[in-house]
Order: sequence, then structure tokens, then C-alpha cells
Amino acid sequence: MRIVIKVGTSTLAYPTGRLNIRHVEQLCRVISDLKNAGNEIILVSSGAIGMGIGKLMLSGKPTDIPTKQAAAAVGQCELMYTYDRLFSGYNHTVAQVLLTGASVESETQFNNFKNTVNRLLELHALPIINENDTVATDEIVIGDNDTLSAIVAVSVGADLLVLLSDIDGLFTADPHRCSDAKLISRIDTIDEYITSLAGGAGSVSGTGGMVTKLRAAEMCMSAGCDMVIANGAFPERLYDIIDGADVGSRFIGRRQ
Ligand code: GLU
Repeated sequence: MRIVIKVGTSTLAYPTGRLNIRHVEQLCRVISDLKNAGNEIILVSSGAIGMGIGKLMLSGKPTDIPTKQAAAAVGQCELMYTYDRLFSGYNHTVAQVLLTGASVESETQFNNFKNTVNRLLELHALPIINENDTVATDEIVIGDNDTLSAIVAVSVGADLLVLLSDIDGLFTADPHRCSDAKLISRIDTIDEYITSLAGGAGSVSGTGGMVTKLRAAEMCMSAGCDMVIANGAFPERLYDIIDGADVGSRFIGRRQ
């Protein structure tokens, strides 16, 4: 299977900006094993800004663009150093691929991106993709890695996109506030009800960034690719997700 896995900052780092060693080590081990089993994996990793904050010992999330971009420059380096070190331990080679809004919009650049990723997969390397935050501008920005990972999944014809988040999936209400909130395990259509869960009052928005996740799901579903939202605190669950087991929330791609 060709699988895109997106991991969010909340899985990779603590609120201090320091690495969550347990999560990252487990994630790299499971991904290495999935590659050993013959799957083609592409990792979309956030965490550049978050890790930069930790490394530069900034007191909090910067609000101005130059500091954010400086943090991303430092953090991206730290991120790739960490992945390189951990994946090397399992004999896997990582490749950094940074995209911008402009490179997605330019046909030539986007074709080059797809050709490079395909070649990396043929060479058994692990493409690790992020937005190039150091040069992104407010006007031309992909903006969030849920959208970026859906763009990637669709463009490389992935069978599955897994969004590893800080929440188990899409709930009928905000699970932090409603004790009877239920996880929705299968979604065939993003109708008004599903949309209202991400955006309406008493929703889960802000706890898991559901608006961007639903947008990513819509992109994947219309391209015939399944998308699963699952909790990044348990990377081992990736095995079951790939086997099609009932983990997290699965959005079913429309088969033509
Ligand atoms: N590209 C950002 C980073 O690496 C993250 C964007 C996102 O998490 O959606 O820090």
C-alpha cells in the first residue's frame, strides 16, 4: 500500500517545545516496520516551529513572522536530525522535501515534486514533507499540514492518508466537555451534520483542528483515497489502521 502519514506538533513535542521522545521513537519504529513489510510510506511532519521554539528557548509561540520563520528554520533542522538518527537505526534513509504554496500552484514545480517523490519511493527512501515555513508568505501559504498532506496523498495516488492528531477522531460533541460524546468511526459522506460537528457551537473545533481535517477528508474522498483521523499518542495503532480495523474515524474514499 501507498500510505501518507501526517503527524502533528502535539504528537511530536511537548508544550515546552521539547521532543516527545516516546511518541517519536514509537512512530519511527512502526513506520520502519511498515516499510520493511513492503508498504510505501510518505511522512508529512509538522513540528518545525514548535521544535524551533524549544531549541531557541523562546518563552512562547512567536507572533511576528520573522521570529516564526526563524524558529521554523532552526526547528526543521532539528526535526530532520531527529528523524535521520532514528530511522537510520532501522536502516531507512530519510529525504527532506519542503513545499510552498507557490510550488503547489506551479505546474512545473508540482510535477517535479511528484516525480521526485515517486523516485524516492522507488529508491526505498522515506520522503518527509513539510511546508517551507521560512519563505511562506501570508498571501501564498498552504497554511496547515492537514491540507498539505491531502494535497500530497491525492497527487501521488495514495491508498490511504492517516492524520495523527491529539484526539481519537471525530466525535458527536466535544469529548473534553461532553461525557456522552461518541466517536464516529466511519464516514461515507461529509454532509451538513458532519460539517456542523467541526464548525458549529459546542463542536470539537480548536481541540483537533477539525475544519482543516474535514477539508482534507473531502479532498481525499473525491480522489478515491481513504482518510483516517487517529490519536498520535499510540503509533502502534497504525498497524490496525492499515489492516482496515476500527480505529479512529475513517472517511471512505469514493470508488469510481
Ligand atoms: N508547518 C508547520 C510546522 O512545521 C506546521 C503546520 C501544521 O501543523 O499544520 O511547524
